[in-house]
Amino acid sequence: MSKKKIDKEALDYHQFPQPGKISVEVTKAVETQKDLSLAYTPGVAVPCLEIEKDPANAYKYTAKSNLVAVISNGTAVLGLGDIGALASKPVMEGKGVLFKKFSGLDAYDIEVDTKSIDRFCSVVSAIAPTFGGINLEDIKAPECFEIERRLVDELDIPVMHDDQHGTAVISTAAILNACEIANKDIEKLKIVVVGAGAAAISCARLYREVGVQNILMLDSKGLIHQGRSDLNDFKREFATHDYMTHDEIFTNADVIVGLSRPGTFHIEDVKKMCNNPIIFTLANPTPEIFPEETRAARPDAIVATGRSDYPNQVNNVLGFPFIFRGAMDVRAKEINTQMKLAASKALAELAKKEVPEYLHNIHGRELQYGKEYIIPSPFDKRLVVEISAAVALAAIESGASDMKNFDLDEYKKELAS
Ligand code: NAP
Ligand code: MG
Repeated sequence: MSKKKIDKEALDYHQFPQPGKISVEVTKAVETQKDLSLAYTPGVAVPCLEIEKDPANAYKYTAKSNLVAVISNGTAVLGLGDIGALASKPVMEGKGVLFKKFSGLDAYDIEVDTKSIDRFCSVVSAIAPTFGGINLEDIKAPECFEIERRLVDELDIPVMHDDQHGTAVISTAAILNACEIANKDIEKLKIVVVGAGAAAISCARLYREVGVQNILMLDSKGLIHQGRSDLNDFKREFATHDYMTHDEIFTNADVIVGLSRPGTFHIEDVKKMCNNPIIFTLANPTPEIFPEETRAARPDAIVATGRSDYPNQVNNVLGFPFIFRGAMDVRAKEINTQMKLAASKALAELAKKEVPEYLHNIHGRELQYGKEYIIPSPFDKRLVVEISAAVALAAIESGASDMKNFDLDEYKKELAS
């Protein structure tokens, strides 16, 4: 299909039969005078007073427990850059669609028109009582790190910047499985992370959590090393002691993770990698190098992209709906590292299970754990059960949730129904 035709289709999809992609549904009967007196005044005053007495009652009498805010200031939207709060709204509505569709959570999209960290944080924390969780989205680095840190500290509901942690959870799962398939030892890996922005920093932090020790990180000026005076604190976390040449960086690398933009590394670099290399070209929508080229140069490679038209899609929809579902169902106060690791491991394990027939049909090919299928399909109906349950359990075990009498099997049954 021509680009013009696809563009028109996308605009029509968003415009008809009504503008936008989401609406609000009423969950109680409002048919009679009596219903009205319960839904609004005078009946509504009773739950208000119960919540005033005990804020936890908000989870009982309002939609808070199932409601996520998807909040952006529009400063780093997809690969489109700083297009502003209003122009980011289709993306944030889209995220709401995915929350609802994949995990049953309701989402309000909220576009905040400010680039000030202080103002953004004060708006978000002021509206936080409405929600059971907050998904920060498409906020540019390095501001996104400070914004998330402040809101996580301040609020007692889960707050997660998905561009950072969703990507980290999913690419970590992909690396765990790729290493298993390629017979590589995580602790001995040499990983080159190309990019040092929102996604790359958070991914590299989680790779360390699963045992990766040797990470070389590159930004637009080259290797991040201690001799540089232009590094922010986040980049400095990954600075190598010594400078290395471009050649030295890529020679015998086991893994390259591209989280940058097209063309930031080349076929020549890929050729220098060791046997059975793992190459993730995750820049969206155009990867750093297209898989056809990577495979031609390195038939022994395991390749992943962020795109749905190639095998091994590192797609954030494999994470955020289920991470928030699990965290919110046990009223976790945060989404901590243990919960993210639990999500990664559950995701990695799910790829190893037998694949149901409907997934072969959706993808039009036989899916079987191996080089061409290292992470599950976004359409796998078991995701909500496996990932949410793992996250909920990790929340309880790590103390992020103090829910008593949590029954994992019961919870899994609920998720499956
Ligand atoms: P970001 O914060 O803007 O980071 C981009 C990074 O790329 C920056 O650190 C930048 O360096 C670096 N860069 C630019 N040119 C480079 C070069 N020639 N060599 C090495 N590094 C270079 O963006 P982000 O949110 O982290 O996302 C990065 C990319 O990953 C985007 O394409 C995004 O679509 C993709 N992504 C994919 C997924 C997925 O597939 N699931 C998830 C998240 C993000 P400076 O710091 O020097 O500017
Ligand atoms: Mg995003």
